[in-house]
Amino acid sequence: MSKPKDFKNNAYCPLAWIHSFVNQDGSYQVCCTSEEFENHIVDDEGNKIFVTSGKSVQEVMNTQFMKKTRKDMLDGKWPSFCSRCEYAEKSGGVSRREVEIKNYQEHNSELIQKTDEDGTSHSKVLSADYRLGNLCNLQCRMCNPRSTAMWIKEWNQIKPEREHFSEERMESYKNYTWIDSEHLVRDFNEKAPNLSHIHFAGGEPLIVPQMRKVLEKCIESGNAKNITITYNTNLMKLPENVINLWPHFKNIKILASIDAVGSLNDYIRYPSKWHIIDKNLKFIDQHHEEYNISECMISSTVQILNVLKLDELYEYLEQFNFIVAAPNLVNLIMPYYFQTTNLPKPLKIMAKLKLLEMAKKYENKVEPYHKYLLDNITQIINFMEGTDGFAEGNFNTFLEFQTKFDQSRGISLFDLYPSFKSFIPVEKQI
Ligand code: SF4
Repeated sequence: MSKPKDFKNNAYCPLAWIHSFVNQDGSYQVCCTSEEFENHIVDDEGNKIFVTSGKSVQEVMNTQFMKKTRKDMLDGKWPSFCSRCEYAEKSGGVSRREVEIKNYQEHNSELIQKTDEDGTSHSKVLSADYRLGNLCNLQCRMCNPRSTAMWIKEWNQIKPEREHFSEERMESYKNYTWIDSEHLVRDFNEKAPNLSHIHFAGGEPLIVPQMRKVLEKCIESGNAKNITITYNTNLMKLPENVINLWPHFKNIKILASIDAVGSLNDYIRYPSKWHIIDKNLKFIDQHHEEYNISECMISSTVQILNVLKLDELYEYLEQFNFIVAAPNLVNLIMPYYFQTTNLPKPLKIMAKLKLLEMAKKYENKVEPYHKYLLDNITQIINFMEGTDGFAEGNFNTFLEFQTKFDQSRGISLFDLYPSFKSFIPVEKQI
């Protein structure tokens, strides 16, 4: 195994050394960017390892699976589950691996030096990512029962048949009891003294009691001042008993999942209430210093439901001084029938024109995020134009799903997008 110094030209990623990711079911996985069916850390017999397995952090990080992962990376071989990062780099984009190499620039050389020939690491875990079960206050249309228990009851009734889950699997989504077990406390206590970063995502982390307990443990142990906390949140709640703990930490960074403005956001991220999200954003913009928030950015999942109205989100964000005025745009991949690639051609043209119009507005601005915004827009257009999913009938699957979801709720997609009606095939029109 060679120990290269030029990280750009091999597959080295610091997360395989210093990061611990625990997913909603309590299983250890490599990181949340890696491919979800291949990224489980397994023991030497090939069994998935869970927090409840009782293994120490070092045992998990030095399984044959992790040793081979690090060895491959240093030998320039991309692990198959890192394909998103590999693809991003090969297609000229920026991968999470590159971002993390920068984040850990003071550690990279030492991490590599402290690695044995067989891939054994002697470094500590510095960063933890916990998905504390599937408690969430929303039932976003593109989400699933693993991430929000609100989807459990209706999933098999509303979703296309090929996505249905067995009863057994559905039962497992009701039983994420590991978050209440002593194992979580043990796992956390073992990592806590060395952590410099903890990330929480959903469910909705700001309403999960165990998340608050983890914060309290950090404060009790005196280590909170060294730790940056980051959240993915839908920003429907900013509980006082959580935000009052934030000043104890090094800093707090918020990535708010917001896909549109007003009733469209409430439609996509059902049943969110825009007036609450708007109030919470304004609160953060005004009180970020008091609550030790060093960054707040909007993350938008771009799909059929919002690509035609992203301009409204950009305009809305312009009012803020602290909150980053450009959202981070991420192309939705699953469910496939929500992808922008499935839009009828005339709507794709309309969406493209609106996006280009928006880009024009920011062309001559100088803040770094304006450049970021322009790159983001190009990526969204390229993805949308890459495939013709409409011809494959996916737009119909999309309309059928929305209609089923809306039926019992007394809402209609056509109130938001009357033009979509004209693309329903004649035989399906009532
Ligand atoms: S290369 Fe990408 S997918 Fe692989 S561990 Fe690093 S961040 Fe995760």
